[in-house]
Amino acid sequence: MSDADDLAQALCAQVDGDLWFPEQGQSAQPAKDICARCPILQACYAYTLVAQPRYGVWAGLTERDRRKLQGRTRTATCAECGETFPVTSGIALPKYGHDECRAQARRRRDRNRPKQRKGAA
Ligand code: SF4
Ligand SMILES: [Zn+2]
Repeated sequence: MSDADDLAQALCAQVDGDLWFPEQGQSAQPAKDICARCPILQACYAYTLVAQPRYGVWAGLTERDRRKLQGRTRTATCAECGETFPVTSGIALPKYGHDECRAQARRRRDRNRPKQRKGAA
């Protein structure tokens, strides 16, 4: 999330930022809905698990959502770039930690796959 390009894509930087800090009794849903469509949601989620911001909605998670997740995260190593990334326990361990790494691995796999003739089983 330190990447300036990433931050430029953050939807919360383009809309009224107060939405991400709802007052007591105010709904966090509008912010959550926007997070769900944010192009850097995955990067933001990884950042949030590591940085553990105290206040506000991050990656579609409220303070209460994050408290529930606490203690249920572990780290895994991305098979493509070797960086570690946080994973919530209870889900299958993903092989790649980053969309770009997953795409790169898929491209390489497609390149190396022998060309199949049409109709071949
Ligand atoms: S996921 Fe939500 S909090 Fe994170 S950068 Fe996007 S809009 Fe902001
Ligand atoms: Zn990676």
